Amino acid sequence: MNVDADDTTPSSEPSNASPERHDILWFPDGNVVLQTDTYLFRVHKSVLSLHSSVFKDMFELPTVEDGASDEIMADDTAGMKALEETYEGVPLVALVGDKGEDVAHLLRTVYDHGYYISRSDDHPLCKITAILVLSTKYAFESIRTDVIGHLLKHYPMTLSEFDMVDDDQATVFQDLRCFQHFKLLKAALVADADVLLPGLFYVCSDFDLGHIAQSLRETLDKESTWRLLKGRDHLSLAFKRIQWIYLSESEACVKLHAPNQPTFDQFRLKDPEATAVFDTLTLKDVSGDKLVSTWPHRVCTNCGERLEKLINEEREKIWEELPSYFALPDWDILRAALE
Ligand SMILES: [Zn+2]
Repeated sequence: MNVDADDTTPSSEPSNASPERHDILWFPDGNVVLQTDTYLFRVHKSVLSLHSSVFKDMFELPTVEDGASDEIMADDTAGMKALEETYEGVPLVALVGDKGEDVAHLLRTVYDHGYYISRSDDHPLCKITAILVLSTKYAFESIRTDVIGHLLKHYPMTLSEFDMVDDDQATVFQDLRCFQHFKLLKAALVADADVLLPGLFYVCSDFDLGHIAQSLRETLDKESTWRLLKGRDHLSLAFKRIQWIYLSESEACVKLHAPNQPTFDQFRLKDPEATAVFDTLTLKDVSGDKLVSTWPHRVCTNCGERLEKLINEEREKIWEELPSYFALPDWDILRAALE
């Protein structure tokens, strides 16, 4: 597919201003202050510990006040740095490399049950990706499970379910679905959400190379780029099998049952673009009924039924192989890892 619109998000300029208190996530009885580039959050150790094993472990580590030596002091745990300084007498923890807006999405999810409802697709994408990436980084397990389950509704694990949602012009997370794929792929890679990766690599494969190159420059590292391009080649080869099944079966039918119809070579001479329908990497575009109904005169009713079945079996086979194209474990292993 071809998408002309620029889906880049302008990255915000690094600010030298010191971080400000967050309007909502500043509780006077909070007993820890989290520091990011833009915001300070005064929250509760007990609440964070309840949801996040990373914070729990960090708060349980001995601190300098407890007489611990520097070596075993809570320090630099999973991108966190317990600072020696305090903020208004409250311990200060720097969240290294996290954007204040992203941390706000995560903390609001923790504190306000109505803030992120995984049944709703009305959230902006930046909220979804922030929650996915940070719930993974800081091990907010139930939030992570929730957001992955939510995304699986949009990038499901079976072909029949995927066909149902695979509409790039649909609006989801406040934008066209086609503008979300690369950003979600990046977030899923960062968050090790392997179960989402076959579907995301698959949808990202069906863009022209120019768009892929542009999106990759902005989002993916070298190794993931290699995986996407390599997988795209595998997928492209697999799609040739569908084309071959259609052409060989329909040709046999024309010769046996409809000798008045032109052979495919004759047909192609009349219309050089006749096989353009196969120029896709979206399985929905080459379903059995779609191909058979594209040229209804080339296949008789009996052969048509057989052909539809053969094509749909091949589509399922490609779907089963999909994770391997992108150097991922089989669906069964990905599914099992979810439980
Ligand atoms: Zn026939």
